[in-house]
Amino acid sequence: MRFASFFTSAFQRHPSYSKLILLCTLSGGGLLSYSESQSITGTPASSTNSDVPAKKKVVVLGTGWGGTSFLKDLDASLYDVQVVSPCNYFAFTPLLPSVTCGTVEARSIVEPVRNMVKKRKGEIKFWEAECLKIDHANKTVFCRSNIDSNLVGSGEFSLEYDYLVVAIGAQVNTFNTPGVKEHCYFLKEVEDAQKIRRAVIDCFEKAVLPSLTDEERRTNLHFVVVGGGPTGVEFAAELHDHFQEDLVNLYSSVKDFVKITVIQSGDHILNTFDERISLFAEDKFGRDGIEVQTGCRVVSVDDKNITMKTKSTGEISSVPHGMVIWSTGIATRPVVRDFMEQIGQGKRRVLATNEWLRVKGCDSVYAIGDCSSIDQRKIMDDISAIFEAADKDKSGTLTVAELKDVIDDIVVRYPQFDLYLKSKHILDLSTLWKDSEGNYREEIDIEGFKMALSHMDSQMKTLPATAQVASQQGEYLARCFNRMHQCEEHPEGPRRFKGSGRHTFLPFRYKHFGQFAPLGGEQAAAELPGDWVSMGHSTQWLWYSVYASKQVSWRTRMLVVSDWTRRFIFGRDSSRI
Ligand code: FAD
Ligand code: MG
Repeated sequence: MRFASFFTSAFQRHPSYSKLILLCTLSGGGLLSYSESQSITGTPASSTNSDVPAKKKVVVLGTGWGGTSFLKDLDASLYDVQVVSPCNYFAFTPLLPSVTCGTVEARSIVEPVRNMVKKRKGEIKFWEAECLKIDHANKTVFCRSNIDSNLVGSGEFSLEYDYLVVAIGAQVNTFNTPGVKEHCYFLKEVEDAQKIRRAVIDCFEKAVLPSLTDEERRTNLHFVVVGGGPTGVEFAAELHDHFQEDLVNLYSSVKDFVKITVIQSGDHILNTFDERISLFAEDKFGRDGIEVQTGCRVVSVDDKNITMKTKSTGEISSVPHGMVIWSTGIATRPVVRDFMEQIGQGKRRVLATNEWLRVKGCDSVYAIGDCSSIDQRKIMDDISAIFEAADKDKSGTLTVAELKDVIDDIVVRYPQFDLYLKSKHILDLSTLWKDSEGNYREEIDIEGFKMALSHMDSQMKTLPATAQVASQQGEYLARCFNRMHQCEEHPEGPRRFKGSGRHTFLPFRYKHFGQFAPLGGEQAAAELPGDWVSMGHSTQWLWYSVYASKQVSWRTRMLVVSDWTRRFIFGRDSSRI
């Protein structure tokens, strides 16, 4: 915290110079660490593996967080790797809200995929196309280029695979709300952010025209953000800053007509964060004049009005808007949905994988990131097998010592076991051997064992749809692919309680490094590991340093830092291009 308070005081004493110096220092640190990592991973293709016969074909769909982190760590000399994605670049999505107002330029947050893969070990072929269908039975994907021009040649092709890595993310979820597709702006892709930037300026330019009434100006300058999650909140904060710091001087005649409203169906904005952060954000928005309407669900949108229902009273109301930004969550893409139907997962919401990120029911297909969800195996589904494996002397009862013999495998296979012990502050396993009256038993039978472990599955959590999860999954999967041969011979995973032997790999385990919510006015909130919450100006500086160091290349890091510097000195550019 001393580190953070140093930033705050420096920031207050020398507002602009200290910002610049700190920015350069922080990003310089990031550059250094990146250059070190590059020198290790970016070795040229090794010639020793080039004559290995019949390399297995790996097809990767998507070049977002999951796909690129997989490719970055994969030893491509071991496989014949082909990548399909309609975007020939990787986009650093956490900075997309900054692109909507020109705090950061769109080109500063993207890196060409070909740049990223060319330095990797082995050859990676990239095809700019969209996968239209996964044919699971024939292990083939059908693709079509979406280059829409008069260039000659067919853009349709198919690829066969031995292993398929599905990392195609998700699409915006409109919840089938009438008018949303036609009249709302989304914030999912780089193009969306660029569209929003132009539309915001359009609203201001239209509002100042001499032919408008005050009521019309007010309508044009009413910006409605639907969804009070991190993206919606960050966009509202960015827009507010853009208005206060840049546009207020350029469009001073209409400054009193500007209004930003955030509509949230839950009781609080940022409701996936610690309650202190939600309250801090609501309080700050209140002071900034951003209206937050909680407990409201949007029922329809048209070109002039947005209609919503107050959940508590059922009352329906309509308000005129200039622009609506829809940021309410994600849904499964059609190509994944079709694949799910083929493999008997049609009734599920997202593609289910096991703990090794392998799609359930398909040995050769893996799925990572927003398009998938890990179906963690329940302890209670395997309780008899666990009991049998632990009961070494086959006495039909278990002692604590017997459980201790298999505890390492249980904890790896069922992480909820460990989470439960931690949540209940249980340090000694013999606590589980106590009966309902609290008396310790030497041995327990299967019924006692079921009782002792019965609440553990309640600790299972689905992972959030974040870049952190997707990129850790990509790294994990690449490590498995790199050691596939070795681990098949010498399995490293936990024992199989149902069946014999061990699992080939350790299961995927997510490490949460915390999350940020920038709130505008050079303030941010952060939830850091160990239930640590930090809010205010110093947290915003932590945000700058983390996001500068997380950039995927020197080039984008330099561009992002110089964009921030430019914004500090000259403000944001309001040209409508
Ligand atoms: P994506 O990164 O979405 O990548 C999907 C890839 O698949 C893309 O390359 C796409 O072009 C490609 N694709 C799509 N359709 C096809 C097809 N048919 N065939 C082949 N390829 C296809 N997460 C955080 O952790 N922290 C944040 O601060 C944060 N901020 C965010 C801000 C915004 C505005 C947004 C939209 C998201 C943010 N996220 C953040 C979430 C994060 O971006 C996602 O969780 C992450 O991108 C998921 O990675 P992915 O690889 O699954 O999908
Ligand atoms: Mg026994």
